Amino acid sequence: MTEIRLTNTRTRTKERFVPLDPGAVRMYVCGPTVYDRAHLGNARPAIVFDVLYRLLRHVYGADAVTYVRNITDVDDKINARAAETGRSIAEIADETSAWYLDDMAALGTLTPTHTPRATQYVPEMVAMIQTLIARGHAYAASGHVLFRVRSFAEYGRLSGRSVDDMIAGARVEVAPYKEDPMDFVLWKPSGPDLPGWDSPWGRGRPGWHIECSAMAEALLGETFDIHGGGSDLQFPHHENEIAQSRCAHGTEAMARVWMHNEMLQVEGRKMSKSLGNFFTVRDLLDRGVPGEVIRFVFLQTHYRKPMDWTEGKAREAEATLRKWRALTEGVAAGEPSGAAVAALADDLNTPGAVAELHRLAGAGDAAGLLASAELLGLLSPEMGAWASATPDLSGLAGRLQAAREAAMASKDFAEVDRLKALLTEAGVEVRMSKAGVDLVPAAGFDAAKVEALL
Ligand SMILES: [Zn+2]
Repeated sequence: MTEIRLTNTRTRTKERFVPLDPGAVRMYVCGPTVYDRAHLGNARPAIVFDVLYRLLRHVYGADAVTYVRNITDVDDKINARAAETGRSIAEIADETSAWYLDDMAALGTLTPTHTPRATQYVPEMVAMIQTLIARGHAYAASGHVLFRVRSFAEYGRLSGRSVDDMIAGARVEVAPYKEDPMDFVLWKPSGPDLPGWDSPWGRGRPGWHIECSAMAEALLGETFDIHGGGSDLQFPHHENEIAQSRCAHGTEAMARVWMHNEMLQVEGRKMSKSLGNFFTVRDLLDRGVPGEVIRFVFLQTHYRKPMDWTEGKAREAEATLRKWRALTEGVAAGEPSGAAVAALADDLNTPGAVAELHRLAGAGDAAGLLASAELLGLLSPEMGAWASATPDLSGLAGRLQAAREAAMASKDFAEVDRLKALLTEAGVEVRMSKAGVDLVPAAGFDAAKVEALL
C-alpha cells in the first residue's frame, strides 16, 4: 500500500500517516460561515483537502473514507447581514450555502460524505456544554457559558504558544462575566430578534467553536484521523476545538493529524477590499475563467506555502489545459503514474504531481496523463465543457488564407489585418507560414466570439 506522509501541525513534523482504522479513514475540515459569496481564499482549503480526499480514496478505497465539511449557519455575521438587507436569517443562510456548494463544485471538488449544518446539531452542542460544566471545564454566568481555558493545561500546544503569550498577542474580549479574559464563549443569550434555542441557561445560541466539536463527534467519533483548515484557524478556533473535545471526552487527541493550508494573495498582495483586489470565486467564473483553470493554478503551489493568484498564471494554466485536453480527447484513462501518486503521498506535493503531468504529456502518454490528472481532479469530462465547446476553425483558416492570397496580389492587407484582429480578440492564436494559416485556441479563447465570425 502507498505510504502517505503528512505534515502534522501538532508535532511540527512530516509523519507517516497511519489511520486508526484503515477500513474507516475519517477527516474533518472547517467549512464556511454562510453570509456572503466565497472569496478566492476560501477556495484554497476546499481544493487542498479535496486532493487529500481523492488520495485517501485512491489508497484506502472510495468506501473507506469519510470526509466531513461543515457549514456554519448560525453566526453574528449572518444576523448582521439579515438586519442590513431586511431579509430573513434562514433565507440568507440557505442562499449562501447553495452558492458555496455550487462554486466549489465548479472548482471540481467532490461532495464531502457529510455537509452538516450547525443548526442541525444544537442538542449535541448543549449536551457537550453540559458535560464540560459537569467536569469543571466550563461555567455559566449571566446567560453565557464560558470555557475555562486555565483548566486545560495543554491549551496552546497546537500553535506552540503559552496562554500568557496568547493573551498578549490576541484580541481577547474582556467581559465582566468572565473569570479570565482568555475564557471563550460556548453559549450566549439571544434576544427575541435573534435565532435562539431553549437551553438550561435560557434561550440562546452556540458559540462558533463548539459547533465543530459537536459535529465532529457526532459524525466521526471522539478521536479521528485528520482535521484540516486554513492556517488562520489554528488559533483560536482549532485550539478551542481541541480544548472542548478533549475535555468533554477525556481523550488524548481530538484528531491525530492537524493540517493547515497557507493563505492566498493576489498579484503579490494580500487580498483586501481596501486594496481593490478582493474578488469571489463567482466573480472569476462570471468573467469566463473556467473552474478547472482556477483549480489548476491552485495546485501549482504547495498547500503549506503562501499562494499568489495572478492573471498570468491563469492564462498559462488555460493554455496548458487546452493542450492536455486535446491530447487526451477520446483516450481511455490508464493507471495513474507511480510518480504522480508518490508526489501526492509526500505531503500533498501537488507541484510535483503537476510536473509529472507535464512529463507524461511530453512523452505522449495520454492514457497515463488522463489517469494521473484525474487524481488531481483535472481533465474530467464534467469539468471540460469550457474546452470542448471549441468550434471547427478550418473554415476561418481557409478564409484568412484566401484573403492573404488576394492581398499578396493587390498589396492591400486591410482585410487580412481585420480578420487577424477579430481572431486575436476572440482568443485565437494566428500562425501564418509559407505552408498556410494555422488557427489555435489560446488563453482567453471565447467560443461565442468565434461562432459569431463563422
Ligand atoms: Zn472548525
